[in-house]
Amino acid sequence: MTAPRMEIDLEKIRKNTRFLVRHLRLRGIGVTGVTKGVGGNPAIAEAMLAGGATGLAESRITNVANLRSAGITCAISMIRTPMLSQVDQIVQSCDTSYNTEIDVISGLASAARRRDKVHNIMLMVEMGDMREGIMPENLNSVALQVLKLPNVALRGIGANFACLSSVVPDAATLAKLSMLAEEVEEVSGLNLVTVSGGNSANLPWALGSRQTGRINNLRLGEAILLGVDPVSGTPIAGLYTDAFTLIAEVIETKVKPQPASLHFVDPTLRPIHIAPDHDHCGRSILAIGQQDTDVAGLTMPEGVTYLGATSDHLVIQTTHSHLRVGNELKVQPNYRALTRAMNAPDIAKVLLGETHSSKAKPERSSGFCMEGV
Ligand SMILES: *Cc1c(COP(=O)(O)O)cnc(C)c1O
Repeated sequence: MTAPRMEIDLEKIRKNTRFLVRHLRLRGIGVTGVTKGVGGNPAIAEAMLAGGATGLAESRITNVANLRSAGITCAISMIRTPMLSQVDQIVQSCDTSYNTEIDVISGLASAARRRDKVHNIMLMVEMGDMREGIMPENLNSVALQVLKLPNVALRGIGANFACLSSVVPDAATLAKLSMLAEEVEEVSGLNLVTVSGGNSANLPWALGSRQTGRINNLRLGEAILLGVDPVSGTPIAGLYTDAFTLIAEVIETKVKPQPASLHFVDPTLRPIHIAPDHDHCGRSILAIGQQDTDVAGLTMPEGVTYLGATSDHLVIQTTHSHLRVGNELKVQPNYRALTRAMNAPDIAKVLLGETHSSKAKPERSSGFCMEGV
């Protein structure tokens, strides 16, 4: 079979979504499935929806176009604040967008008016991550400005955590977000439909707490896809961590001495781990490289040590058995490695367990293969 390839177990993605939806429902929280980590792959989006996600969220308009052209009609939110140059496309294909700039919201309002539509606005509040967000003290005034604009509806507020910094959302911070929601309602006279508390990093709080206040939504990507807590990298009990497997092919195996010098030409390509010094060890090359994925984010199987990688070659050392040319090796990607691989044109995407009811069609142009249909 074609290599390198990403094997995607849609059933595990559906079950992971189902597990989180069930547990969060008890706390009054709905799940929006975030597909940016998989390039807006429609079959994966369908698996999230089949698992009970109430809508989808994306950070790139090209990925939204991918979802829409596969026939997905559910609500899609743009979670990266829109580019002023893309307001028309946003209004055309997204129901809602997360915003921090009044000029952009004003652009969205004009675009919505041209199309005779109403576009939903979520206001993102800065709660400590220091990436995007309106400072809390300015939230009410921005909300009032939104109310004056035509063809936009203030739908709610949200926050994001642990993306740029590793500020973990705690009970006190989320209680503050609830309070801010109530203040906005008081000054605007509106009822906020959605208070979106954050992403996968919020799960320890959400699953542990019975006091979720006004928070009624989380935007989840990494936990659904990889079953791990993004802050600690540890598996979340009850979730599959192996929905994605990256498979690469061996193109050379030789017994070679250790390199004479460990000074590499490009310091960013430095191996993360040098194996214990055997004079001669079995080394193999896999036909995959930095161009295809974040090589540092791959977990090798038992008995295989990562030595280094360049743009097209990944060099490993094997302790027990020698791999033969043409053999395949399975590795587990972390979120960053997954995202790069899902967007790499030379990595085939093989969908396992696709259901007949799925409306998603394979994307021929991006090299999707089908198996087990
Ligand atoms: C990426 C992102 C998410 C999803 O984060 P995960 O850690 O993958 O759950 C949610 N909200 C925003 C604004 C994001 O950028």
